[in-house]
Order: sequence, then C-alpha cells, then structure tokens
Amino acid sequence: MEQPTIYLDNNATTAVHEDVLAAMNEAASLYGNASSMHAMGREAAVAIEESRQAVRDLIDAQDGAIVFTSGASEANNTVFNLFRERIDLGAKRKRIITTTIEHPSIIETVTHLKEIGYAVDLCPVDNTGRVVLSQMEALLGDDVALVSVMLGNNEIGTIQPVKEIAALAHRHGAYVHSDATQAIGKIEVSMKELDVDYLSLSAHKFYGPKGIGVLALRKGVPFSPFVHGGHQEDGRRAGTYNNTAIIGLGTAARIAQRELPDENKRLWALREMLRVGIEERIPNVVVNGNQEHCLPGTLDVSFPRAEGESILLYLDLEGIMVSTGSACASGSLEPSYVLLASGVDIELAHGSIRFSFGRYNTEDEVRYVLEKLPPIIKRLREMSIR
Ligand code: PMP
Repeated sequence: MEQPTIYLDNNATTAVHEDVLAAMNEAASLYGNASSMHAMGREAAVAIEESRQAVRDLIDAQDGAIVFTSGASEANNTVFNLFRERIDLGAKRKRIITTTIEHPSIIETVTHLKEIGYAVDLCPVDNTGRVVLSQMEALLGDDVALVSVMLGNNEIGTIQPVKEIAALAHRHGAYVHSDATQAIGKIEVSMKELDVDYLSLSAHKFYGPKGIGVLALRKGVPFSPFVHGGHQEDGRRAGTYNNTAIIGLGTAARIAQRELPDENKRLWALREMLRVGIEERIPNVVVNGNQEHCLPGTLDVSFPRAEGESILLYLDLEGIMVSTGSACASGSLEPSYVLLASGVDIELAHGSIRFSFGRYNTEDEVRYVLEKLPPIIKRLREMSIR
C-alpha cells in the first residue's frame, strides 16, 4: 500500500488553494508595474486595488489603510519600529507592552529593543496561555505607547481577549496592535469589533502564497514606513508591487471570508475527533492551551516520557507531518517558550506535539493518525529510561 501524506502542520503554512493558484497563473500576464501610468500599469493597479478591497472586507477594516508587506513578520516589525521612532523623537509615552507568548517576530524584536534600552513589559499568561485582564491592567499606565497582543497563538491555539484588552489600553490612551496571522479564516476577525488600531496578517496561513501579508491601520493612527524608497502604498511601504502575490492574497481573502462559517465548524470537529481519540487510546497525555478559547484547527498535546522530536520523526516515517513546540536552536533542543510561559512543566514542554488542521484534512486522516500514534508513544515510553 502506498504511504499516505497527511499534512497536519497548517499553522506553519498552508497549501495554495486551487482557485488562488489559477488566479495567480492568470495574473502572470499582468506584469505591468502598477505604478506605471500606461495601460498595462493601470491594469495591474486595478487588480491590486481589488485585492486591497478583498482584505479590507475580510477584516472589516472600514476606512483604514491596508498596507501590503512581505508577510506578518514585516508587518509586526513595522509597528514596533514606528513606535520606537516616536519614542526616539521624544514622545511622552515611552513604554511598550506585549505578552510572553507572541510570535518570534515580536518576541525577538522586543528583546532587541530591551537590550538597547527601551522600556518593554511582557504581560504574563495563565496556565492556558491566556492574558489575565487584571494583570494587563496592572501594567498599563499613562506612559504606555503601544499594547500588542496576538489574536490566536500559533502553537497552542489560545485566543486572547483582544477586544477587552483594547478597551483597557484605549482607556489608558495607548494604541493597540494585534497579530491576527493565525486567526484569519478560522475565526471571525473584525478590526471594528476588536477595536484595534493596527492588525497584521499573512497570506500563506490561509491558502494564499508565501511572502505577502498586510499591516492594516485604523484611519488616522500614527505611521512611519519601515521600508523607505518609493511612493508605493501612499509612501507607507516602498518596493515594486508583487502583482501575482497580491492577487493571490486577494483571492485567498475572498475564499476565507466565504468559507469561514463552515470551515470553523469543520476544523473544530476534526480537532476534537483527534483529541478525544488520543485521550481514549493513550494514557497520561496533557492537552495544552485553552479548551474554550482555542483556534478551531489547533491541538497541542504533551506526551510525558516521550520526546517531541522523536514523536515527530516517527510520525514522519508514517507520512504524518506535525510540528513540535520546541525550536532546534544552535544544536540544543530548547523547549517551547510558549508552553513554559503558560506554566507547563519543562518535561511536558519537551514532549509536546502540535497538530494543526486545514481545509484539505479529512476524518479518514484522523483515523490513520489514531492508528499510528499510540504504538509510537508506547515504544518511545518503553525506550525511556525513567
Ligand atoms: N505571527 C504569527 C502568529 C505567525 O504564526 C507567523 C507565521 N509563523 C508570523 C507572525 C510570521 O508570518 P510570516 O511568515 O508571514 O512572516
């Protein structure tokens, strides 16, 4: 029997949707520079504006600006850079607040900012990875310029109370940014409803191409470009438009908006089928994250006395692709900082596996995982010296 390929790593990236691919193939002939004034330039510009509108509709950005970037990492960096610049220019508010479980494009950015002398506070999370509002409130003050809190966590799926945090932060006069990269297409994301000032997203997390994302801005909020050098994006982000990628993003945005209600339910059902199946078949497992406020397609599980990396490799041999929480840093296997920040014991953090579902996964695939996973864990536990 031919080995199946079961891709359960959709939080890392997703396959490009067939309609997105078709739109991008068609867009290949649209090679005019969208800044050119001739017919081919104008044709590209029209398509780009259609994509901008699709993103605006998807995130309910109202009359704010949609700025195309190379992805969410750049969008996140743009926000922190602009507040750093304001601080450098003498703004009264000099402190930034974010959380301990943000994506590395934020954690490493603020670590660097701290190293060079900026005031940054990391709001802790509870043992489900959720920000506790009273702890956020305790950190707020009239010296805070920016509060940045992700909407859904890439590793454990925990959804943050961004709307409530935004209300608190605004009451203290701070601006609010949310990295919504993992939430798009899985839960409803409305800038208006969340009442955030800045929002980041990335096309490759919802069946669009890699290397294209968005920083959305509420109308009238402070802005300063991260990439200087051209008049594109009203001077907000320089660089010749990547027509094909932007058109792919716009197509993916339309599909995500259309399919969200069904996709949300379907992903949760697959996730729950796997969770229940694992708990029934494998003794002594711990499901990480918040089971109520969780992205529908994310399941993060710790298997005590089994190493995450070993589980990943054995699953890979069976054609099942997952991810560990841990990053392989300079030869040493570091446990996940997200799990540690959520109070997960270091041994459990070492034995965690993230299963992340997407639109192409099926119940049959979950059954296959439930057949292959238990003997792998059993074998690894038998091999473990303790
Ligand atoms: N934020 C979150 C929450 C993410 O999951 C990712 C992708 N792993 C990013 C930001 C970075 O996105 P990009 O790959 O577009 O830079």
